Formats: sequence, C-alpha cells, structure tokens
Amino acid sequence: METPGEKLRDEVRRVRSREFDFLIFFVTGQCNARCHHCFYWDHLGPTHAGLPLDKIETIAANMPEFRTLLLSGGEPTLRKDLPELVHIFLRHNRIRTVSIPTNGLQSDRIASLAERVAAIDAGLRVNFNLSIDGFAETHDRIRGVPGNFANSLATIQQLRQIAARHPNLHVLVNTVICADNHEEVVAFARYVQDEGLADEHYFEIVRGDPPDVRIKEVPPPALYRIYDEVLAIQERYLLRSVQHLRGLYRMWRQVEGLGGLLYRYRTQWAVHSRAACWPTPCMAGEVIATIDYDGLLRVCELREAGVNLAEYGFDFELARNSPLMRAERAEAKTHVCDCTHVCFVNTALRYSLRQRFLTLPWLFLRYRLAGSW
Ligand code: SF4
Ligand code: SF4
Repeated sequence: METPGEKLRDEVRRVRSREFDFLIFFVTGQCNARCHHCFYWDHLGPTHAGLPLDKIETIAANMPEFRTLLLSGGEPTLRKDLPELVHIFLRHNRIRTVSIPTNGLQSDRIASLAERVAAIDAGLRVNFNLSIDGFAETHDRIRGVPGNFANSLATIQQLRQIAARHPNLHVLVNTVICADNHEEVVAFARYVQDEGLADEHYFEIVRGDPPDVRIKEVPPPALYRIYDEVLAIQERYLLRSVQHLRGLYRMWRQVEGLGGLLYRYRTQWAVHSRAACWPTPCMAGEVIATIDYDGLLRVCELREAGVNLAEYGFDFELARNSPLMRAERAEAKTHVCDCTHVCFVNTALRYSLRQRFLTLPWLFLRYRLAGSW
C-alpha cells in the first residue's frame, strides 16, 4: 500500500513525464440491452465477440505500466474470461484500478465475475459501475429491457455481499442524464443514497451520436439545476470516502474531490450549452486512449479515425506513435471537438497543474462561501 507521500511523488512524476496512464478497452461488441442513448450502438452485433486473450496479452506486453483500466463494451460481463483479461493487465502493466461498467442484467453471472476479479489481488481497486438511469419505469424504457431495474437492484445486493468479503470491490452507480429522465434524476439520486445502494454515484450528460437523437435534448437550465442539486448528494459520498484519512491529506482530498466535481460540471455544462470550450487541452491519445472490440486504436471513442492494432502486430506503442495517431492527438488539443466525456475532462484536469492547484481550491472556496459553482 502506497503512503500519501509516495502517491504524490508518483503523481508529480507522471504529470511531468506525461506517461500513458489510462486505457479504455471495449472488450466486446456484444450486448444484451438496447439503450436509446447508447453511443456505441453502431459497433454492436451478435458476432462482435472481441479480441481473444492471446492478442490482448500481446497488446499488454507492448504497453508501458499504467494505472487505470476501464473495460467497456458492449456488456463487458458477457465475456466469461474477464478475470483472466484483468490478470493480464495486472501482470504486464501493474494497473491499480479496474472499472467495469455493467447493465446489471445477469445478476448471478456478474456477481461470480466480480468475486473472481476482486480475488485476483487485494491491492487492485475494482469498481463495478451499475448503469441505472432512474426509477423502474423510466430505466426499463430507456434501456429497452423490461425488468432491467429490478435486475440491477438484485445485482447490487449480490455485489455488496461480495464487497463485505473483498474490501477492494466498490459498487458504484452511473446515471446518464438524458431527455427521458432529467426530471427524475435528483429524486433518483436521493433514493440511491437513502437506500445505501452505492459507494459513489456519478452523473453523465448523454454523449456521442445515440440511435435516438431526440434523447440528447436536455435543456441547459435543467442540466444546471441537476448538477446544482446532486453536488450536495455527491459531497456526502466524498466525505464518507475520506473519513479514514487524517490531517492535511484528508483536507486536500476534500478540496480535490469537491473542486474536481465543480470543475467537471462547469466544463460539461459549458460544452452542453455551447457557452465555452474546455479550460485546458484534451490529452486524448497522449496519456489516455481507447481500443475498440475489433482492435481499432483511437485517441478516444468519439473521434472516428484510428489504426487497427492487427496492422502493427498488436504492438500498442508502435500503433500509438503512427502518423495518424500523432495527427489525431495534435488535433484533440485544438478544442475542435471538445466534448462532455468525463474520463477525458478529468484526465485533462489532472495534467494541468494550474487548474489542479489554483482553480480547484478557488472553486472549492467559492462554493463553500457563496454556494455558487
Ligand atoms: S449503453 Fe451499454 S448496455 Fe446499453 S446498449 Fe449500449 S453497450 Fe449495451
Ligand atoms: S475533446 Fe475531442 S479528442 Fe478529447 S475526448 Fe472529446 S472528442 Fe475526444
């Protein structure tokens, strides 16, 4: 277990050297849901099983050490070799966190996989992120699957029992804010907290090009009100997550946690309402990148251009330094495609010392003193 001092030194070194640190890997293009807001819908198909483990092992062996792995899809838990897949990245790249979003449909299967992933290494933080967009009727309609809400709650109950045995397993809820749920998001957020369903609850404005374009029509004032109200709810999760810490480190984690939420919501709201671009350039392709279910490497999932890893012998670094990928990451920095994707907004923030150490404390103080974000 790293001490706060060791964590800080590692962080400063990574920020300075701009080493690769975050992989979003779409491990399958198969899915058992039909969500109206899915940004990956045109990649999905019953035959899109994903790369086999031997190819994934070659990719991992040709990557540097990095800290965060997000396994996406499709529905990642449709892969029964998920624990072996995680183990590959742990062995080759010494990842510290793996996050696995899930639609929660197959409770027993998801629980069994979660137990096996959490048991790989007690030092690996394992986040299972249940995607739930509102109460039963709303959620099932958005997800296109009757009974999805009830299944997700059953999955959460099983995951929480496993988390009691494996403290490195964290149960999170992700809610996508869209035209069909924005009026009940705040009530749902209170319900999740009051029922003690999650260790943390995150909220994302719908992104990309979903099959139902109407679902992106969330009025900016409504989004503003949601962010305003969920901030207080999220702060309670934050306070709980730092209660075991002491002194200055605990204080800084609070400033960074709440300041980070304020920064993210301001940025996402500005992009959604077309009021402004990001305060700092996107780091897509440099310290964070995505691999699709078929091996296409892209700087992010929202830009279409990419190179197929198969053409580079599944050598990640070779492909990442190809002319096309260099051009893509240069363009990502120009703000031409500023989006609301939380992973990329947060990553850009992490690599800007000015935003982290000046803007975040300022946002924190202003929120504390004036209640304004
Ligand atoms: S959002 Fe996720 S669960 Fe829903 S259809 Fe898309 S990949 Fe499947
Ligand atoms: S800002 Fe552009 S490059 Fe960065 S994540 Fe968004 S779409 Fe991708």
